[in-house]
Amino acid sequence: MLNVDLHCHSNVSDGVLTPEALAARARQNGVDVWALTDHDEVDGVARARAAAAENGLRFVAGVEISVTWAAQTVHIVGLRIDETNSALLQGLQATRGGREQRARAIAAQLAEHGIADAYQGALKYVGNPDLISRTHFARYIIELGLQPDMHAVFRHYLSEGKPGYMPHKWATLKEAIGWIRGAGGTAVVAHPGRYKYGVVAFGAFLDEFKQLGGTAIEVVTGSHTIDQYPVYAKVAKDYGFLASRGSDFHGPHESRVDLGTLPPLPSGVTPVWHDWV
Ligand code: AMP
Ligand code: MN
Ligand code: MN
Ligand code: MN
Repeated sequence: MLNVDLHCHSNVSDGVLTPEALAARARQNGVDVWALTDHDEVDGVARARAAAAENGLRFVAGVEISVTWAAQTVHIVGLRIDETNSALLQGLQATRGGREQRARAIAAQLAEHGIADAYQGALKYVGNPDLISRTHFARYIIELGLQPDMHAVFRHYLSEGKPGYMPHKWATLKEAIGWIRGAGGTAVVAHPGRYKYGVVAFGAFLDEFKQLGGTAIEVVTGSHTIDQYPVYAKVAKDYGFLASRGSDFHGPHESRVDLGTLPPLPSGVTPVWHDWV
């Protein structure tokens, strides 16, 4: 069976490793088909493709777009995109646009809670000045010894209702799916188990996603617990969505799940890659 990992991050967004180091690690872990899906950015894709070729991996160009739907953030992964598509590039640039100001506001809030100079602190971890994210602040909070790991940080800071959270308006669902499809790609709901919608709102979200041309959801992801795999396999079957598998790897020592190490998709779903490989 092919080892397919269609979700991870390089230091072009909020991952730790370069695209080249990720490709080498994917190969070491036995990945056959690999996608790079940086947040709101495709600058690493050409490098990742070249590194994948050097490592004998089949490569899938990807992105993970931040979306606001019903006042919450959802992530839509785009797979097999043409990363040179101009409407996609413009859309991603606009989506990244508010991050700098948001980061200043996050830092100001953290300062009120006794964490000084968090903007400069977060910047130390930023590989792409255009893409400062909560993850970079989280690394600084760990560096200060205030929390032991990522999950602990997000339990106490940077999440809704906690110090360092700034509401933000990302792309619309329609825009994100439109950019992905316009660039020839497949739109995938990332880690559906993470969203805090009730059943009714989540159903409405999936209906709208499908109506706008979305065709897949992640079923096996590093963000799901094992008991969530069958739950989202059933969602995929009920809605007629293809199923994806991806670690959402951000870095060694930091991510619970490494590249290519998740269980296979449950039986009965159609893999999103069924007609690619
Ligand atoms: P941003 O795009 O700046 O809002 O940052 C979102 C990123 O923060 C996600 O892509 C994750 O990498 C990280 N993140 C958010 N919530 C958590 C969490 N509970 N545990 C670990 N990482 C998280
Ligand atoms: Mn991330
Ligand atoms: Mn995500
Ligand atoms: Mn991700």
